[in-house]
Amino acid sequence: MILDGKVVAKKIQEDIKKRVLENKIALTIVAIGNNNSANSYIRGVIRTSEKLGVTVNIVKLDENISTKEAIDEINKLNNDSLVNGIMIQMPLPKSIDQSKVINSISYLKDIDGLTDINMGKLIKKTNDGFIPCTPLAIIRLLEFYNIEVEGLDVVVVGRSNIVGKPIAGILTNKGATVTICHSKTRNLKEKIKNTDIVIVAIGQKNFLTKDMVSENAIVIDVGINVVNKKLYGDTDYDNLINKVKAITPVPGGIGAITNTLLIQNTVDSFFR
Ligand code: NDP
Repeated sequence: MILDGKVVAKKIQEDIKKRVLENKIALTIVAIGNNNSANSYIRGVIRTSEKLGVTVNIVKLDENISTKEAIDEINKLNNDSLVNGIMIQMPLPKSIDQSKVINSISYLKDIDGLTDINMGKLIKKTNDGFIPCTPLAIIRLLEFYNIEVEGLDVVVVGRSNIVGKPIAGILTNKGATVTICHSKTRNLKEKIKNTDIVIVAIGQKNFLTKDMVSENAIVIDVGINVVNKKLYGDTDYDNLINKVKAITPVPGGIGAITNTLLIQNTVDSFFR
């Protein structure tokens, strides 16, 4: 079965439209310096916001701005009642202290779920924080297709703060038995072989191949790899599709849901 992210996104968008109605809801993207690599994601966010009636404002800051000056700008947005969500365009220039800048966002407006407070809330399952959009997209997709994770074995390949660690935390809270793997993991193939769900988020085209998984596996491909202007995930999708129980395509899988969830988090922030 193909786990189609576009269908999931459409369903979430219908719900968002009903909640937005006549409300004036706005998110602000803070862009420091010229960061072309992030522009396609931002364009996607703007397109989805316009479609759903949420306003996007972009605050452009000079590349040479200091960490303190950047934090001062973010504080202005924290105190502005017309700003419902704040997103910082990544990556930041090297001169900026990324952790300090991210943690200066009020956790109430941290729609990307990146502050330490929201990460802590995610791990402790307090349910009143914001969850980063990519792990949230995985959860929404599994829910949409009625895949109940309690009791299942899940292997997450990749341990980043934005994908691997948060998805492992959420799934553990949901009762799955999670193994987090990374570049230093020994016997990776053995760990993946008999797992119920494998989530790959490493950024390596064709990493997960047919011989590595069982016929009962559900494969979630988070990877985004651009080769000769074409988009690929981290799995050998064409060969896996005929073997595994279910798999997400790239494009049209997890990536198709993430920017919709950024808008959903903004709408949630407005109502909170
Ligand atoms: P990072 O580079 O931050 O992390 C990559 C992780 O993969 C690290 O933990 C690394 O291990 C691990 N890794 C790398 N190579 C291997 C390997 N051969 N075997 C096992 N583990 C390996 O990446 P991100 O988490 O930010 O992103 C991962 C992928 O997901 C990228 O392709 C990115 O573009 C994509 N992405 C997609 C999103 C979406 O919405 N669809 C959103 C965010 C990212 P170690 O820690 O030991 O170095």
